[in-house]
Amino acid sequence: MGLKKLKQRKLIANSSITSSNTPLIKEEKEEVLFDYVEKEIDEDLICSICLHPFVDPISHNSCGNTFCAKCIENVTVCPLCNEGGFKKNCAASAKTIRNMLDKLKVKCGMCKNIVLRGELKDHQEKYCPLHEAYQQVEEFKSKLEREHLERMAALQTENEQLLTVSKDRLASLEQQLIDQFRKKEELLETRMNEFENQVLAREKLENSNKPIHLNVRGTIMTVSLGDFTSNQQEPDNLFKKMFNGEYPCYQTPASKQFDDPIYFIDCNPLIFSHILD
Ligand SMILES: [Zn+2]
Ligand SMILES: [Zn+2]
Ligand SMILES: [Zn+2]
Repeated sequence: MGLKKLKQRKLIANSSITSSNTPLIKEEKEEVLFDYVEKEIDEDLICSICLHPFVDPISHNSCGNTFCAKCIENVTVCPLCNEGGFKKNCAASAKTIRNMLDKLKVKCGMCKNIVLRGELKDHQEKYCPLHEAYQQVEEFKSKLEREHLERMAALQTENEQLLTVSKDRLASLEQQLIDQFRKKEELLETRMNEFENQVLAREKLENSNKPIHLNVRGTIMTVSLGDFTSNQQEPDNLFKKMFNGEYPCYQTPASKQFDDPIYFIDCNPLIFSHILD
């Protein structure tokens, strides 16, 4: 390999690092188009980008360098002479180069016979002894692929249907659960209210019957709490306030007669009896 070519390759390797948006050397595994028989191929036929013999060679008229059509697909600046507007000055390479490329010996991938590169396509499509077998295999392969795709599509449809049904079922189940929960909540609330009412009624009954002792300006009286605190004409009466803590309530010392506290009422005993009746 000549020094000039080496320099050119180095240039390309470097530029592929710096210009990341237009990679000159493809990173993905390259498709092997031809299986060349000769180890040493004329370096004038080697593409400085892919390092293989040119395929569909294109030459840059400004510098005379040649590349594979595919290798310069996305290139805007000539990789070797750096001229911009690259594609405008490119044209299909000279017939001599094409002829030389066509004469390279390659192995048929199917029958492994050696044919000229320019005749490989024709060989594989018409003359290759394994052409028919390969064609059958290809047909079988595509049939299998088609069947596989159809089966996958059917499965997907089935899955989607199942999913829709499950979703519907799930939604109705969720609604049922919500309804059940609401009913239970309502029932619970009703029971709570009933219970509260019962407790209140009981409390009221107990309170109304609870005996309390009063010291009405020296006269000791025993009355029921209900009678004492409830007054239809005056619901917020003073006695009620005494027993719910809104108004001071004084106890006089317990007498020999009662162990319970005796509450002092500053009122004429006669008037007080009248109020209670
Ligand atoms: Zn190339
Ligand atoms: Zn150029
Ligand atoms: Zn063949």
